[in-house]
Amino acid sequence: MITRRLLTLAAVLTLPGLALTSGGATAQPLPRQSPINVTATALRADWPLTPLRIDYRSSEVSLAYVSRDGDCTTRGEEETEQATVEPGAGSVALSGVRYDLVQFHFHTPSEHRFAGLATPMELHLVHRDAAGHLLVIGVPLTVGGPSTVDTVLRTLASECGQPVPVGRIALNDLLPTQRASLRYDGSLTTSPFTEGVRWVLMREKHVEAATVARFQALFADGNARQPQPLNGRTIHIEPAGPISP
Ligand SMILES: [Zn+2]
Repeated sequence: MITRRLLTLAAVLTLPGLALTSGGATAQPLPRQSPINVTATALRADWPLTPLRIDYRSSEVSLAYVSRDGDCTTRGEEETEQATVEPGAGSVALSGVRYDLVQFHFHTPSEHRFAGLATPMELHLVHRDAAGHLLVIGVPLTVGGPSTVDTVLRTLASECGQPVPVGRIALNDLLPTQRASLRYDGSLTTSPFTEGVRWVLMREKHVEAATVARFQALFADGNARQPQPLNGRTIHIEPAGPISP
């Protein structure tokens, strides 16, 4: 089963049906919820997309438990470990609009699926523009060698406890080195499930097995929303991925 789980973005991008799906799809005024299951038939190769530019620097980071129920021992599925960054330390730009990185957090198992398959965890980097619009970068996390994600999750914050100082990290190291990505319009994956969220799904990043085990021990029942219907949405492919300065 481990090898099946590795069938993620890279595999979907090479599925044989991909070339037949470009063009032709129309948007429908139906609910646009997240997460989704990424399937080959929903992919649309209408390149080039407007480039997404990523400007991630280094930041002091602290990790806190986000409680939804106020109960210090019950793990809710909408709760998570959330990291805050220094204002202005990370931003992305799309079509001339700047979105600042406001926080990043984690889910287990992954919320997005690729050809029906989940990864053990998923990282969400949440950005907001001056008007309050959201852009979220999703990174599937698979078990492998150590990464900066392991540094962030070395000590988990307890519910109702104090935030855990992580120290200074290079935010760019939270992203995969290969930057091919998918984009679609969706929603928050927790209440109130607000739509109009721009999603960018990247290739997987490695984390150590011990990190996954530690996180899954805290969220024994998981903290991921189930995939939602696509309702005719298309998923746009950006083979070159976002641009970093
Ligand atoms: Zn999330």
